[in-house]
Amino acid sequence: MLSCVSDNPQLRPAVDALPAYVPGARAGATSFKLSSNENPYPVHPAVLAAIVDAAQDTNRYPDMHASELCEAIAGMIGVRAEEVVAGNGSVAVLAHVLGAFVDAGDEVVLPWRSFEAYPIAIQVAGGTGVRVPLAAGGRLDLPAMAAAVTERTKVVLVCTPNNPTGPAVHADELDAFLAAVPRHVVVVLDEAYVEFVRDPEAPDGVEVYAAHPNVVLLRTLSKAYGLAGLRVGYAVARPRLAAGIRAVATPFGVSHVAQRAAIAAIGVQDRLLEIVDELVDERTRLVDLLTAQGWDLPETQANFVWLPLGEQTVARAAEAASAGVVVRPFAGEGIRVSVGEPEATDLFCEIAAGWREGV
Ligand code: PMP
Repeated sequence: MLSCVSDNPQLRPAVDALPAYVPGARAGATSFKLSSNENPYPVHPAVLAAIVDAAQDTNRYPDMHASELCEAIAGMIGVRAEEVVAGNGSVAVLAHVLGAFVDAGDEVVLPWRSFEAYPIAIQVAGGTGVRVPLAAGGRLDLPAMAAAVTERTKVVLVCTPNNPTGPAVHADELDAFLAAVPRHVVVVLDEAYVEFVRDPEAPDGVEVYAAHPNVVLLRTLSKAYGLAGLRVGYAVARPRLAAGIRAVATPFGVSHVAQRAAIAAIGVQDRLLEIVDELVDERTRLVDLLTAQGWDLPETQANFVWLPLGEQTVARAAEAASAGVVVRPFAGEGIRVSVGEPEATDLFCEIAAGWREGV
């Protein structure tokens, strides 16, 4: 007779203790949704046409490893297709990367505050997250992150631009960091917002990748390419590592419709990157308006701004929502506001001006 601890199935303790990933609230018909860093522009007609066309093959499984899509991505960024692993959003690809490199008890160094999915993915992978606080101005503290690497570290997550604070790492600090980190440690450069970066001191991720075999790039088509709802992200890694990440991935993880839509989006990327330019202009307008109101914002290189509101955060987010703008609160810390339509910028700035009164 087996002795059992309980009559009921037990979740893994790590799963029981997972922090929640709270998605951006849904916006009502009359509100602007600035809570999930989405692209507010309508889907490009060529992408829509590809979706409709691909839907006809829904009775068939998709290309298991999305080879044509990986070729399109490889051509777009200048690597080989065997170095590209596509997945069901870059958050899933991150889980696969961790699954490929992290054993129970291994350490993963991460900046904090950063993307809320990181601690969850690390814990699910069985790893131990080592959180390194941000430096002033919401910037990653790369020297402190390098110093946090121990013999048990397998992966370091570098989020650039950092979600939710906004700054991008600089090329010189990243070079020094990569020189300090042992070469067997995988450094994931999460560049979900790379297309929005205009900081001349920011590195070219693909060049950094080419120079460092332990760097894995993580990118997405959710933001600049406007495909958040279809879930397409990718990793770029040396072929042997890419093969390992692919082996961990969910079979047929990217749907046929998503693959065809992503290929079509890459096909019209000139127009999509013009839209990114327009969003970057809108970001400048939002930052300028808020700065003129007296807000001291970290320097954003992404499609969002961070308002450090401390204990007022939850109340302010609720006020914004009832005034018609849904933003993302991080309780006790601040709110993140995505760059959306010009009307959304205007309305949010009106709300934020009210918060400055009496300051
Ligand atoms: N990395 C960062 C830093 C993000 O902010 C996000 C989206 N919020 C992702 C990865 C995941 O994006 P997706 O799964 O839509 O590709």
